[in-house]
Amino acid sequence: MLNLSGLSTSKAGSRHVKVLVLGAGPAGLSAALYAARAELQPLVLTGLQPGGQAALTHAIENYPGFPEGVGGSELGELFQKQAERFGATVEFDSAQSVDLSTRPFKVVTDNGKYTADTLIISTGANPNHLNVPGEAELTGKGVSYCGTCDGWFFKDKKVVVVGGGDSAVEEGVFLTRFATSVTIVHRRDSLRAGAILQKRAQENPKINFIWNTVVTEAVGTDKLTGVKLKDLKSGKESTFPTDGLFIFVGHTPNTEMFSGQLEMDNGYIKVDEHMHTSVPGVYAAGEAADSHFKQVVTSAGMGAAAAIEATRFLEEAS
Ligand code: NAP
Repeated sequence: MLNLSGLSTSKAGSRHVKVLVLGAGPAGLSAALYAARAELQPLVLTGLQPGGQAALTHAIENYPGFPEGVGGSELGELFQKQAERFGATVEFDSAQSVDLSTRPFKVVTDNGKYTADTLIISTGANPNHLNVPGEAELTGKGVSYCGTCDGWFFKDKKVVVVGGGDSAVEEGVFLTRFATSVTIVHRRDSLRAGAILQKRAQENPKINFIWNTVVTEAVGTDKLTGVKLKDLKSGKESTFPTDGLFIFVGHTPNTEMFSGQLEMDNGYIKVDEHMHTSVPGVYAAGEAADSHFKQVVTSAGMGAAAAIEATRFLEEAS
């Protein structure tokens, strides 16, 4: 029989919840909304980035219901407010380890210990690094993975953006608000980004492209002064002076903690069409489980589905 009271503290000092949500991006907060409306008093542990990657986006223009677009952090706050209105609790805390072999599931966090009847994993993904010399040393000193966060520091400066996907092009366009020039360096000769973003970049006089080229080094001692480039067609190497290097070369799901406990596919948690993982009572949603869509709206949908399934699981178990 499951403990169907809300948040409670056991003799062992761990707090018990019916639904524990790991991660507070669009997936986690949508799951919390649905679980809260089922009166399950879900607890959401935010991880290090409340609002998820979406909160680092300056403007989200493709989330339905906001015809003029909405700020990423503003949307995260709205998601949270709506979930809290129905009884969800959101805490700034990060899971360190989970034990899915026992019931209730055990979760150890930075601030405490939890047991949970159901777990919804929405831990998202982290930006990939290029892993070139100088990158780690110059991160925060000219090298960045977030235009929305750091763009302001590059007012009247020159920046290089690496990548050809939606993130690179969107953030490249955003960076033209501050920088005098934005050079997008892409390893192929065509962009992966969607048509509207491509058009915006191509029409922006501050943006230029270097095709078939990779960055092989971030150059500088105390701060970035340039990047080394390699033309993949000619093999020619050169140094390109720049004040900023913004890297948008995809993401890696934040799922290491579950390795060996849940079935995975290339680092993504395997889910069926109902967001069920390989362990009954454990669900996954958003980028931790989605290598394909990675949109705010699809993540939110996955989170809602996960919470509906968690609710059914608890009903059947009681
Ligand atoms: P992505 O679509 O995976 O694109 C990554 C880009 O980095 C690709 O152009 C890739 O080149 C390049 N790349 C990968 N590894 C590299 C390396 N080692 N060196 C140089 N270049 C490298 O990632 P994303 O742009 O972050 O987008 C992730 C997901 O979020 C996508 O599904 C995207 O649609 C979505 N998203 C949507 C929006 C929006 O709708 N407005 C905004 C942001 C993100 P290749 O092209 O050669 O593979």
